[in-house]
This record gives sequence, C-alpha cells and structure tokens, in this order.
Amino acid sequence: MLIDTHCHLNIMIRDYAAKKEFKPLTEKETTLCQEVITAANNHNVTTIINVGTDLIESLTCIDIAKRFSNCFATIGLHPTDAHANWQTTIVEFKELLKQQTSLKIIGIGECGIDKYHKGYDAKRQRQAFQAQIELAIEHNLPIIVHSRDADIETYEILADYKNEPSLKGTIHCFSYNENYAQKFIDLGFVLGLGGTITYPKNETLRNVAKTVPLESIILETDAPFLAPQNVRGQQNSPAHIRTIAEFIANLRNEEYKTIAKITSETTNNLFNI
Ligand SMILES: [Zn+2]
Repeated sequence: MLIDTHCHLNIMIRDYAAKKEFKPLTEKETTLCQEVITAANNHNVTTIINVGTDLIESLTCIDIAKRFSNCFATIGLHPTDAHANWQTTIVEFKELLKQQTSLKIIGIGECGIDKYHKGYDAKRQRQAFQAQIELAIEHNLPIIVHSRDADIETYEILADYKNEPSLKGTIHCFSYNENYAQKFIDLGFVLGLGGTITYPKNETLRNVAKTVPLESIILETDAPFLAPQNVRGQQNSPAHIRTIAEFIANLRNEEYKTIAKITSETTNNLFNI
C-alpha cells in the first residue's frame, strides 16, 4: 500500500476562483472525488491526506474526509494566504479542533515561510507559522511545513521549539540540500518527497533521497500541482504516488515493496492513522 501524504483533492475538483464561503461538495464534485480516489486505489494508493491552505479549503478537506473513509484532512493557513486578519482563522481552527477526531483532522498545515512569492510580509508569515506550531503542540498533531526559498528562516523557527517533545511533522515538497535535510531530520522531522524528484535538473534532491535514512522519507503528490516528469504539464493526481515510489526505489537501489512499506509505516506513525 501507498499513501499520498499531501494532496489538494479539493482544488482538483472545485474551481476556487470565486470562492467566498465554504459550501459542501455538490453531487458532481463528490463523483469527481470518487473517480480520483478509485484511480489512486488502482495504483495501490490506499490513503489520501488532503491538506488545507486557508479556512475555506480546510473545511472542504474536512468535507471530503467525512464522505470518503480513506481520506483524512489537515487544517492550515499557507504563508501566501496569511492575510492581515490571520488570527481570526486561527480562532476558527481552534473551534474545529474541538472535534478533531470526528472531523478526521490529523495535522496542522500547510503552514510555514515562503519568500519565493514576492510582496510577502515576513513578520506576519512568521507569526502565523508560530501560532500554528503552537496549535499543533497543544493538540499533539504533526505540522505540514511549507518552506520555499526560506531554509534558514524555517529552520530557526522550528529549532526554537526543539525542546517540545511532541512537535513533529513533515517538510513538505522538500527542496533544500543534504545539509538542511540532516538539520530538519535532527529536529525530528521527515521529508515529503514528490514529483519534483523526477525533474531532470533536480540532482540536489536526488542526492538527498539517496543519502537520508528511508525512515525519514514520506511520499506526496501535491496534486493537482507538480506532476512527475512523465506526465509533466498535466494535472497531477494521487495515483502518481506509485511513479514516485518506483522512482525512489530505483534511485536507492531498493525494492519498490520496501519503499511502499517503510514510507507507509512512517506516515501512519507520524499522523497516527
Ligand atoms: Zn500543497
């Protein structure tokens, strides 16, 4: 079995261009979800974690988890979505966490630091990230960290909490070098690896995937984004976890079965599935 630890099924099936408020899935959207999940199952992907990036998307992830037994939700505020009133979103998250188990909320995020998209408010990003780290510690949940062009900043913020034994999580779409891979692993984090590892220019990431312990890797698609090289340009889908697992097996000269087993065990332990 394989697990997609970072998917945006909600973005795959819904047009968010005009989103203003949360609405439950329509019948058509539910059918679309079922198709994506069935395709994933046919590629041995048995579980999908849908990751929230703001309140409305988080609520949609929860709605999907409610309808499909093999889907789980995380709630989070993405650094590029950290609006001026971000605190109000955290208050809403706290309300949702009162029903953590019944809503199938298994993590906080994605949250973190993004210096790639210009015009960001560094202070606000940091504060929203810290608030979500603290929420995760309080509820004993792992965090899903989004970190882009911000290795030092992300590391420093997480390192401030290194004496919190319950803080754990994944560095989603890990994109830094071996040195930072080790630093995050030393803090107790795992690395989320996905389609970008198959991109021709990404030798740095392949080196990381070859050298870190297999127990420090979990698999993700970030669908609909970041499709693997063989389907690049198309909409990504959780079914492609299989391609990523096979690619990593080949890279590490290990059996596909071993990659599937160990990454799934790590995921189940981390997210308490
Ligand atoms: Zn994502």
